[in-house]
Amino acid sequence: MEYSIDYFYHQININQLLKYYNKEEVFKLCRECNNYNKNWSCPPHNVGIHSFLSNFDYMHIIVAKINLYNENINSNDSILESFIIERKNFNNNLYNIFRDNINCEILISGACDKCNLCNRVKNIKCFNRTECKFSLESLGFRVDEIVKEIFKLEIMWINNKSAPKYLLNIGAVLSTKLNPINLEDYLH
Ligand code: SF4
Repeated sequence: MEYSIDYFYHQININQLLKYYNKEEVFKLCRECNNYNKNWSCPPHNVGIHSFLSNFDYMHIIVAKINLYNENINSNDSILESFIIERKNFNNNLYNIFRDNINCEILISGACDKCNLCNRVKNIKCFNRTECKFSLESLGFRVDEIVKEIFKLEIMWINNKSAPKYLLNIGAVLSTKLNPINLEDYLH
């Protein structure tokens, strides 16, 4: 499968970010996802957004745009396969940022996949809370609005009607300073 990846970045003050917060609406959509109530990084949870963000002043939103070439509906399986590989790679890069930079927090793309099967499925607590990371959507942010307004992109889906032109992985780094990290050193 032929594809390329472009990275886009945007730094936003936490106060400005809160206009994209709409927990009720986002969690309504989350209820239709297979991970709902089956992964400790996903809803339902009782994380208070204000206390979660209180240690940070800025969010550095990162978008990896996977440009798909010459794809058609028959390639949807291989598109999905490549997307899963690229999501893993994207999140691994974010974890490297987290490990190298104290005082930063990360938000990954999608649900935590550190274990083959999340302990929540077995109703056991997560024993890896340091590595279990939330995503923007699992905290209640309207990611569709963020990518549209800030990056002029839209969320596309793999479905049985047409092949998407591109797919997005969206993550973020939270910090107390502007430009604390050279993100380009980590994203490849
Ligand atoms: S680290 Fe494992 S148990 Fe914890 S949230 Fe991630 S997948 Fe679930």
